[in-house]
Amino acid sequence: AAPGSATLELVGLRKAFGGLVAVDDLDLRAAPGEIVGLIGPNGSGKTTALNLISGALKPDSGDILFKGRPITGLPANRIARLGVARTFQIVRVLEHLSCLENIVAGLAFRPQPLWGDAARRRGRELLDRVGLAERADVPAGDLTYIDQKRLELARALALDPELLLLDEWLAGLNPSELVIGIELIQSLRDEGLTIVMVEHVMDAIRTLCDRCVVMNAGARIADGPPSAVLAEPDVIAAYLGG
Ligand code: ADP
Repeated sequence: AAPGSATLELVGLRKAFGGLVAVDDLDLRAAPGEIVGLIGPNGSGKTTALNLISGALKPDSGDILFKGRPITGLPANRIARLGVARTFQIVRVLEHLSCLENIVAGLAFRPQPLWGDAARRRGRELLDRVGLAERADVPAGDLTYIDQKRLELARALALDPELLLLDEWLAGLNPSELVIGIELIQSLRDEGLTIVMVEHVMDAIRTLCDRCVVMNAGARIADGPPSAVLAEPDVIAAYLGG
């Protein structure tokens, strides 16, 4: 990485679908080890922004820098191999495979692929990391909802990412599961991961995020510590209006 560079920097990012500008001149910066929340009412462009960062969509204009180097417009698999992993709003595990097999399948896609015993060893470490060690041989389709979310996180971590993009990873968890989920995200940050999270659970945003960027109708309307940002009249109005 270039010295002093952010892990992720979005500069003037724009994406339109026909006449609808989903992401409009978006700037965002995540420093190494930071957790940045990306929040805003439904339809404000958050998921589109994640899709642009991960390469699922190509921006119309603007730049995406990862560790100071442009990744704008690269295919999704190249971006993943550089160290950008994501989870999806709808969990995407392979239901008929065991948890361990789900991870082992992912390990073949790393820059230095792991196979056989090495893959199974690393797979068990990753399952242990997310609290699924006891579930290694259970089919993913038989897992509870939070355990499916844990598995999806382990699959993302199998890439050894430096940047993790979470798309409403905490959504749908009950209060006690939420505590577990928040602790897990915190522990990943403590290990040095940089995290950008799209999230509606405001308690989690307040607890976890160093900064949050608020979007409304594609544009950034606020950027700062959650306590300050969530008190801004523009932000409150956007949520009430949205
Ligand atoms: P959020 O994640 O904040 O709810 P999205 O990024 O999903 O917002 O959507 C932003 C806007 O872009 C919405 O108006 C949505 O309908 C529109 N949009 C998103 N994806 C597409 C697409 N593939 N084609 C057309 N419109 C889209």
